[in-house]
Amino acid sequence: MAAQIIDGKALAETIRKEVAEGVLQLEQKRGARPTLAAVLVGDDPASHIYVRNKIKACEQVGIKSDSHYLPSSTAESDLLGLIHSLNQSSEVDGILLQLPLPKQIDKLKALDSISPQKDVDGLHPWNVGLLVQSRAALVACTPLGVIEALKRYQVPLAGQRAVVVGRSDLVGKPLALLLMHENATVTVCHSKTRNLPQVVSEGDIVLAAMGKGAFLTPDFIREGAVIVDVGTTVLKTEQEIISIFGEGSKKLEDFRANKTVIVGDVHPSAQAKSSLYTPVPGGVGPLTIAMLLRNTLRAAEIRRR
Ligand code: NAP
Repeated sequence: MAAQIIDGKALAETIRKEVAEGVLQLEQKRGARPTLAAVLVGDDPASHIYVRNKIKACEQVGIKSDSHYLPSSTAESDLLGLIHSLNQSSEVDGILLQLPLPKQIDKLKALDSISPQKDVDGLHPWNVGLLVQSRAALVACTPLGVIEALKRYQVPLAGQRAVVVGRSDLVGKPLALLLMHENATVTVCHSKTRNLPQVVSEGDIVLAAMGKGAFLTPDFIREGAVIVDVGTTVLKTEQEIISIFGEGSKKLEDFRANKTVIVGDVHPSAQAKSSLYTPVPGGVGPLTIAMLLRNTLRAAEIRRR
């Protein structure tokens, strides 16, 4: 049977509508709409696009935004001062600190300075600790989006063998914890894992978060597995695209028109072996922003209760 696709865009749209309803209800009950403060340090063009997209998504669901653009020369103490004032503000419900930060700023120090109650990215050690104990209110957006997608597509998780490839604090680790809390039997792989194809091919569900374009070829995937592909790699040469998608492919046409193509960690020929998979783009990506909106609403509901 042909593999089915998890339509991340459509799912994200449904979640946004739910968030928009929640925002309205909060406004009716508490007389205030949630507010997300976005902080961006420096002039990295990709970061500016990400922040702009997040602010636009907030506006679409009725969440207010408050953006702070700081120059790349910003001293760490100035950033910490701004975060402190946002922590204190009675208006602000969520704080988003866009990464990467310039070299002179200690990333962990900056992230740790965000109030755990306003940590809508779910990266604060307080929230991570609560996640370990399965009682977190705010969880990292990408792993949360993955679990949401699996549940809404009615993928059974309890008792299933889930193999997560990648162990970052942002994706792999929180994803493994969420899967464990759903009673999956979880294996976490990383760059030192021996016999990776064999271990990954034992997965009923394979969740790839490596950042290695098209790395997982068919020999990593067992027939009928569910694949969640978190990876996003930008391909920049025709040779790379031809080696993955072949001559005469639609991706090659796209590349010739747009000069870039994004690919996930899973090779297209491996997707074909699955029963259900998330495409890249259009799979996990849109869900990440939808979960940021949901986390902001949740933070507001808890704080304004
Ligand atoms: P990361 O911090 O670089 O972590 C990558 C992980 O993959 C590490 O744990 C690494 O192992 C593992 N890895 C790398 N090469 C490997 C190999 N050959 N075999 C086995 N494991 C290997 O990346 P990340 O922040 O988790 O992001 C992962 C990918 O997801 C990236 O492509 C990123 O762009 C994408 N992403 C997408 C979204 C979205 O919304 N769509 C959100 C976040 C991230 P070690 O720990 O041993 O080094």
